Amino acid sequence: MNRIWPYAPRAIAPLRALGVICGLVMIGSNIAAQAPAPVPAPVPVAQPVMELQPEVARNVEALLARGLADNRAYGLVSDLTTRIGARPGGSPEEASARDWAMFELKRLGFRNVRVEPFEVEGWRRGPIEVELLSPRGQSIVATALGYSPGAPAGGVEGEIVFFDTMADLRAAAPGSLKGRIAFVNQVTPRAQDGSGYGWSVGARARGAQEASKRGAVGLLLRSIGTSTHRFAHTGGQSYEAGVTRIPAAAISAPDANLLKRLSETTRAPLRVRIRLDAESLGPRQSGNVIGEIPGREKPEEIVVLGAHLDSWDLGTGAIDDGAGVAIVTAAAKLIAETLPKGPKRTIRVVLYGSEEVGLVGAEAYAKAHEAELPRHVIAAESDFGARRIWRFETRVRAEALPKTRAIGQVLTRLAISPGGNESTGGPDLQPLLRKGVPVVSLTQDGSDYFDTHHTPNDVLERIDPAELPQQVAAYAVFAYLAAELDGEAFGPVTPAGRPAR
Ligand SMILES: [Zn+2]
Repeated sequence: MNRIWPYAPRAIAPLRALGVICGLVMIGSNIAAQAPAPVPAPVPVAQPVMELQPEVARNVEALLARGLADNRAYGLVSDLTTRIGARPGGSPEEASARDWAMFELKRLGFRNVRVEPFEVEGWRRGPIEVELLSPRGQSIVATALGYSPGAPAGGVEGEIVFFDTMADLRAAAPGSLKGRIAFVNQVTPRAQDGSGYGWSVGARARGAQEASKRGAVGLLLRSIGTSTHRFAHTGGQSYEAGVTRIPAAAISAPDANLLKRLSETTRAPLRVRIRLDAESLGPRQSGNVIGEIPGREKPEEIVVLGAHLDSWDLGTGAIDDGAGVAIVTAAAKLIAETLPKGPKRTIRVVLYGSEEVGLVGAEAYAKAHEAELPRHVIAAESDFGARRIWRFETRVRAEALPKTRAIGQVLTRLAISPGGNESTGGPDLQPLLRKGVPVVSLTQDGSDYFDTHHTPNDVLERIDPAELPQQVAAYAVFAYLAAELDGEAFGPVTPAGRPAR
C-alpha cells in the first residue's frame, strides 16, 4: 500500500535498514514533521485505453467469474497460520514456513519451485516487565521493539521525559536525557490508505537511536498503531553505526494515555523500570520461496506477484502477511487452472523471507536476479492485510498508460477505482523499483489494519473469508493482462523525481 511521503532519492537508502514497513512504504527523513497527505484526485476518464482482443476479453471474464468463487486463499492462510504460526525472519519457524510454501506450490502445480537462501541477523525476544514505580505503582503493558538489546540485570530505571512527537525528541538538546527514559507519545492517525502510519512510524524506526544520542538509558514508545486496546505493537527499528543501542519497548495506547494523565494530574516526576531479556543471535538462515507459471511464448519475461512469508512473533502473522501469501498464490493458481495454455509471459510468485527485519529477502532477490531485472515486466505485492481492494495505482512509462488503463477498466468490475501513476509498489518491491522495474499497487482498505498489525491479535480471526475472493480475482486479472498484453513496455521507470504532494 502506498500513500507515501514526499521524498528525495537519497532517502531511499535508509529504507532497507528501517525494517519498519509491513504493508506500507514509508520514505523520507522528515516524516515526523509531515501531516497526512490528501487523497489524490482520480485520473481523468478521457484517456486512451487499449482495447482487449476477444479471446483475452473472454479469458478475463472467466478469471473474474472463477476468482469471485475461489475460496482457496482462505484455506492457505488458515493452514499456514495453524501449522506454522509466527515466522520471525531467521527463525526455525520461518524455515518451516519455507518447507510449507515449497510443498504447497508444488502441490498446486507451480513450476521451478525453489528456495533462494540468504543470511539474516537473528534476534530472540525474552520476557519483558515495565513497571511504573512512582508516584504510584502500575504494571505497564509493553513489548520489546525488534532487535532491542536486553536490559542489564535488574533492569534500567529512570525518570520519564515526555515527547508528544518524534520531532520533539529530535529537538531535545544533547545530553538532556542523561540517565533518563525517553517516552515518545506520538499518536498514529487512522487512515484508509495507511498514511497515518507513514506519518508516525519514524518514531519507532529511529526513536531509540535519537534517545540514545541524547543520553537516555531506555525508550518507551506509544505503540505505532491505531488500536485502543491494551496490547502493544512491536516492529523494526534501526540505528546509525556507532550509536549505543538501548532497551526499547512499545507500550499499549491505554498505558500511554495513563502515563500522560498521571503526569498532568500529579505534576510529579514519573519513574519507571524496564526489565527486558532479548538478544541478537548472529547470522541465521533465511530465504525466498519462488514458484512460476511459465509463459507460453515469452517465458523469459516475468510478471512478479509478491508477498512475505515471515511475520512478527506476537501473533500468527495472519494479516501480515499470511493473507498476502495466500492471495498471490491463489491468484497465480487461478490463472494456471483457468488458462491451460498459460499466459504469454511467466508469472512468478515470490514469497519473500525476512521482510519485517529490514527487507532483507527483497534485497537478496534483487541481487540474485540483477541480470534478469530488465526482463521483469512489472511487479505487484500484497502486504496490507486482508480487506478488499479499492484502488489500482501504477508506476509505468507514460507510453504504457493505455495498457494499464485497460487493466484498470477491468478492475472497476471488482469495485476497484483507478488511481494515479505514482505507485511505489509494496515494501519488498523497493529494490526492484530502484532498478527501474515498473510496479502497481492493488490497495486494500487499511482502515483497521493498524489495529492489529504487529500485535498478538494478528490471527486468523481478523480475516473475513468473504473478502479474499475479490482480491484473488483482482491479482489474477492484473497478472494475466500484464503477462498477456503486448504494445508499449511498462518500463523501465524512474523511481526518483516524483512530484511532491
Ligand atoms: Zn507485511
